[in-house]
Amino acid sequence: MRVHRAKMCRISMMVFALFLLGMPFVDAQGWGAPHVIITRTACDALPQRHKELWGKELAALGSSYCLLPDQVYSDKEKAKFAQLESQPKVVYQVGLHLPPAHAEAYELLRYFFGKAVAEFQAGRKYEAACYAGTVSHMLEDWSCPAHAVPGDNMFTLFKQFLPPPEEHQDTLLHSPLENGKFTLDLKDYKPHLYGTTVEDAAFNLLNKSHATTVFARGQVIPIINGLYEKNDDVVNSAQQNAAIVGAEIVADALYTLICIAEQKFEPQAEAALQSVDISGNYPLEAPKLYMPQSSFFSKPYWGYAKVGKILKDGKDAVPLKLRIKKGQGVEIQQLASGIGTGTHSVLTYFIPADVYKSFTVTVGVHPELGAEGRVNFQIKSNGVILGKAGPLSGADTAQTLDINLKGVTNLQLIASSAGGDGKGNYAIWGSPKLVK
Ligand SMILES: [Zn+2]
Repeated sequence: MRVHRAKMCRISMMVFALFLLGMPFVDAQGWGAPHVIITRTACDALPQRHKELWGKELAALGSSYCLLPDQVYSDKEKAKFAQLESQPKVVYQVGLHLPPAHAEAYELLRYFFGKAVAEFQAGRKYEAACYAGTVSHMLEDWSCPAHAVPGDNMFTLFKQFLPPPEEHQDTLLHSPLENGKFTLDLKDYKPHLYGTTVEDAAFNLLNKSHATTVFARGQVIPIINGLYEKNDDVVNSAQQNAAIVGAEIVADALYTLICIAEQKFEPQAEAALQSVDISGNYPLEAPKLYMPQSSFFSKPYWGYAKVGKILKDGKDAVPLKLRIKKGQGVEIQQLASGIGTGTHSVLTYFIPADVYKSFTVTVGVHPELGAEGRVNFQIKSNGVILGKAGPLSGADTAQTLDINLKGVTNLQLIASSAGGDGKGNYAIWGSPKLVK
């Protein structure tokens, strides 16, 4: 194994040297050989009928098409399957390898997933499988630990936080991080339906891919420590953790692809897609997928929005509650979902155009923490106010806003102080939902 690692280091150095020479295939390959393992494992999890529909193209998808975005310079004939028609001069789409910001990631998913569906519907299975290979590749790269640290592809910044032993001072860690020797088994994993149209599938895949990127980050330190300690088992097992999550989302994407192409959906899964809770989505203020401090002097604590809870005194997470109208009266209800935040807070959510009809949310101030609070709630899109409520305090009944989404591609949820000292401004966006 030491020989293997030394070899990988040399390859990394060679890749870097080629980069310095201006050669095109600089960027990391992504999982490299593991792409094949991950895609094959995902294909294995598909229902038998889907496998039969793909025929011989399924094996090719797993063994070679999933590598297409890395081979755009060497395989010129197939390069078009990893290129955007709208950008004919861009041969190597970096976004297919490193997780891009929301709008670009959505567009890449929508385009390549849409191409795969359309080609499959037209009976062109080879073309469909090549596009499906590109979709698999990007979802795998976005969930790969070596690709999960923003702006630090070779982990040179990371090494400042986790100083390497002498022998790894000059190692570019990208390749060692992603080239492991793990095996994969999804056991009885049953792929999920992500959409009934290309657009809602792309949107749901985008949000799920964010979770896979964040999960991959959790594997980075174990892998690097394993490398530093020369413990292959530790390295392989952390890589395997990330690869399982990657194989699951690829299985979901491939399963959804055929369901949409055939317009055949399990009724329960289709019904579940009628509305989408966005409270767990990353706002555009978090393009690198970690919640930033919204403003330094925000109240009643330091401006960190929390999903599904609110931070009492900035330290104790407590359940979200609102005063909700019930019959003739009002009762305090604990919410199953929502966002707890302070003022002044702005959270902007990416919305796919023309997929959902409306957005509903119940706004108010936490009844037990916010008796002294006074908050104004506003929903804007590109500067236009679409809905508002307030000023509300914890003694007021929560209000439900219902926003028409025609032409809307982003929603900005703004909670601002309506006076007072702000100590009680425990603002809540309850059950924020997109509805078809
Ligand atoms: Zn790649």
